[in-house]
Amino acid sequence: MSRRIASHYTLINGELERNIIVDIDPSGTITNISHAENIDCEASVEFYPGILIPGMINSHCHLELSYLRGAIAEGGGYATFASEIGRVRGGYTAEERLRAASVADAMMWEQGIEAVADIANDDLVMPVKEQSKIEYKSLFEFFGLNNHDTTSLVNLASKYSNASVTPHSTYSVQDREFCDICSRYSELLSLHFLESENEALLYHYTGSLHAWYHKMGWKCDFLGYGSPAKRVAECIPHDSRLLLVHNTLATASAIQNIERAISGHVTWVLCPESNRYISNLCPPVTLLDEMGVNIAIGTDSLASARSLSMVDNMRLLKGISLEKLLGYATINGAKALGIDSTKGSIEIGKKPGLAIIEGVDFATMTLTTDSRSYRIL
Ligand SMILES: [Zn+2]
Repeated sequence: MSRRIASHYTLINGELERNIIVDIDPSGTITNISHAENIDCEASVEFYPGILIPGMINSHCHLELSYLRGAIAEGGGYATFASEIGRVRGGYTAEERLRAASVADAMMWEQGIEAVADIANDDLVMPVKEQSKIEYKSLFEFFGLNNHDTTSLVNLASKYSNASVTPHSTYSVQDREFCDICSRYSELLSLHFLESENEALLYHYTGSLHAWYHKMGWKCDFLGYGSPAKRVAECIPHDSRLLLVHNTLATASAIQNIERAISGHVTWVLCPESNRYISNLCPPVTLLDEMGVNIAIGTDSLASARSLSMVDNMRLLKGISLEKLLGYATINGAKALGIDSTKGSIEIGKKPGLAIIEGVDFATMTLTTDSRSYRIL
């Protein structure tokens, strides 16, 4: 059945506009967008209080970790989080892990998430993703300084459509494997990047990560690049589509280095709820905004977030207008994943899904503690 949908405000071309009616055909494709001065007088329009937005794009998640919701205490810092996750990971059955992933997937769909860039370590929850109404891009992550076997992960990813391989980060993969994976999967790479200060300190042979590797007798063959940003700029093919995730400690020169080197498409994915949960830090969103780069939002996993809510993450990014935050959560994420020809904005011919954000303070145009999103199409 065709539908006519309206709300107090509608996100169109990056602006919040009033008095818009969006016509949808039975397939979910947008067939018309019109202005109407008096929506109340228009025939058969469904009116939803709030802001009408396209389906959102979660640009960083680990669906398979949903079973760890609440298992790790908040505020312990990154090193504690990394060791805690290793400790608690083994204590759950496959059924428990699958059930938690199914519940999280359904919740993301209901809140209006349309597509997800999802990091995977194994393929246990791939059936959940394959049966989901959400479009998943699965990135099997390669890591381990003593791991030189890229073939197993390449073979695993090749079993699935919409799956590829990516290095975990600039501090956990040796040079040959890093370069090999980046050149083979340059159509979509996702790196955990500058989440803690120790990632950059490692390249100066100091900090807690360096001390830990030293104690374990592990050597890194990539520190000659001088910094994580220089490694990205020099090793990643310049036409890559690249997601850099977290960026909590990103500096102007790191951002500039990478933006100059990679001409393909770079997105700076922010996961502020995860940063708050683990280390009580906030990513430098104002700096990134001023530098004019593509910014998107990820929820990270339920191991380091109270929810997989995009609105909860938007609310934590202070000093940015609501229009821009909504852009991060929709069109910028769609560009990050390379699906913006069909998703991410309310445009005629697109099939983006539709959601409502309710509980917005219209006087200040800001999110409140009551703000939440729900899917209507
Ligand atoms: Zn992550």
